[in-house]
Amino acid sequence: MRFAHRTAELRSEGAYHVLAKAQALEAQGRSIIHFEIGQPDIETYENIRQAGVDAIESGHTRYTPPAGMRALREAVAEDAGRRRGITFAPEQVVISPGAKPNLFFPTLALVEPGDEVLYPDPGFPTYRAMILVAGGDPVPYPLVEEDDFAPDLDELRRSFNQRTRMIILNSPGNPTGGVLQIEAMEAIAELALEYDCWVMSDEIYSRLHYLEQAPPSIVTLPGLAERTIVVDGFSKTYAMTGWRLGYGIMPLDLATRVDLLITHSTGSTAQFTQYAGIEALRGPQEPIEEMLSTYRQRRDRLVVGLNSLRAVQCRMPQGAFYAFPNIKSTGIPAAQLATMILENAGVALLPGTAFGEQGEGFLRLSYATSLNLIEQGLERLNSFFAALQTA
Ligand code: PMP
Repeated sequence: MRFAHRTAELRSEGAYHVLAKAQALEAQGRSIIHFEIGQPDIETYENIRQAGVDAIESGHTRYTPPAGMRALREAVAEDAGRRRGITFAPEQVVISPGAKPNLFFPTLALVEPGDEVLYPDPGFPTYRAMILVAGGDPVPYPLVEEDDFAPDLDELRRSFNQRTRMIILNSPGNPTGGVLQIEAMEAIAELALEYDCWVMSDEIYSRLHYLEQAPPSIVTLPGLAERTIVVDGFSKTYAMTGWRLGYGIMPLDLATRVDLLITHSTGSTAQFTQYAGIEALRGPQEPIEEMLSTYRQRRDRLVVGLNSLRAVQCRMPQGAFYAFPNIKSTGIPAAQLATMILENAGVALLPGTAFGEQGEGFLRLSYATSLNLIEQGLERLNSFFAALQTA
């Protein structure tokens, strides 16, 4: 079959691939502990579920304006602005089915053949995919483990040139759990201004952090609001992955363009989902704190456990729900090791290379799973790595 060139390099997300392999083993009767999937293991909070049900019962099952209901855009502008200490207009907010369309559509609106886009490696696989579909040239910038997975600023500086159209940031980051410090952000902001380029700041994990203060957002720096797309959403914060609800906040002219792309593709986001989103933002926020304290316990247990394994070192992630241990001293390529761990130990996790070349030598484990399963998984990993050393 002949396909359009723009889709030629698209690959599946590693997590789906490993999940399918794990499920095939489970179908044969094997017991598998799952650390591969990046979604909360809890249900959407009760008040939000009820708001969704009520909306359906009340007949809110129709189209809405493509960029979303006014009431939700207002609620997002208010919440996102307050949390970042700045003001957003509701017209700058574009609602989408999940955060992903708000990564894809602004990229389609801004990037064309010949443009370069800088993106983090290791990083979320959708970044490379959307740059390629837009016809741009993806230029990975490496994250440095010793620096809590921040970019190497000297190297980043060398990657900027007249063709650089956009840089993508993701803090707190998937797959590393790293949080970008304000000093690094200021340096990146300066480069964006110097080269007159856009910044796409994927802040989907902005509320999932273990710091005293919220992670900084580059959009708050001088001159950056006019060139930044903030991408955030409900999937992680409110455990709403399957509802498909996210948003982008961007300069007005760009929002108008993205509105047109939504008009002619997804059309709009489900109306009842948007009602549930209003309840999520306007209703009680305590469940987030509870969820975070659960994640913190799991993180601490998992990271201590990983560091007790032979040939494994793991930094303490500051955000999101992923651990990204270094397995370089095994001397085994990450993809091969991940397969061995799945087949021999019954533990599903991802090789760092599912997130780019710089992920070689690392594994990614999601700790959005119960403490009990984390304990069992660690026991299995312990036996596996012990056997590996003596082999
Ligand atoms: N950005 C990052 C960094 C993610 O990890 C994810 C989800 N895995 C998304 C965006 C997409 O989120 P959504 O489900 O809201 O489309």
